[in-house]
Amino acid sequence: MPDTDPRTALVLFSGGQDSTACLAWALARYARVETVGFDYGQRHRIELDCRQTLRAELLSAFPPWAARLGDDHLLDLRLLGQIADTALTRERAIEVEANGLPNTFVPGRNLLFLTHAAALAYRRGASVLVGGMCETDYSGYPDCRDNTLKAMQVALSLGLDSPMVVETPLMWLSKAQTWGLSERLGGRLLTDLIIEHTHTCYLGERGLRHAWGRGCGACPACRLRADGFAAWRAAR
Ligand code: ZN
Repeated sequence: MPDTDPRTALVLFSGGQDSTACLAWALARYARVETVGFDYGQRHRIELDCRQTLRAELLSAFPPWAARLGDDHLLDLRLLGQIADTALTRERAIEVEANGLPNTFVPGRNLLFLTHAAALAYRRGASVLVGGMCETDYSGYPDCRDNTLKAMQVALSLGLDSPMVVETPLMWLSKAQTWGLSERLGGRLLTDLIIEHTHTCYLGERGLRHAWGRGCGACPACRLRADGFAAWRAAR
């Protein structure tokens, strides 16, 4: 385990697999860690419920991390629903559009998330933002790319006149490697916790339990998670 970094980190924590891996990554590093979530009128509130379950489970399963885990914040960003007519916020089928991006795409969503998170971080005395953005992700969201986030780090640090480092530990990892990262950080206990309590499914399905977790098993998010899990298992 690396030496403790004295800074406070604010983790963009959605209750999904990726942001939970990021939260574990931050808890293994920083002296103090807070979490922020965004209520943007998600079709399924289940994601927001999972956040609280995961925090509680991490607190009880990892005492050294519990000592570092501070407040949770939930910001109301329902204005995103006014901006974007997308499958995430409305009852529409998930499809891939002509530009190759799924219609779940909310343009610049991560830029908005990071800007709000940075303002909150500044108020909370945090100088590190941690997000699960990933360039190897199948969907190719331009606001998840490494250069976009490096540019955001510079813009935020200048605009706040205070250092605001954007850390993206999953940027160059495959989904299989993300499973490996969380297991290295928290062992089988963390893997099981992620399988059981994180939410990925676009359809909000929690009833069906697979080896990789709960979800419909058919939507793009479930397929990505299932394929990554299978590849990780096969490589072990
Ligand atoms: Zn699904």
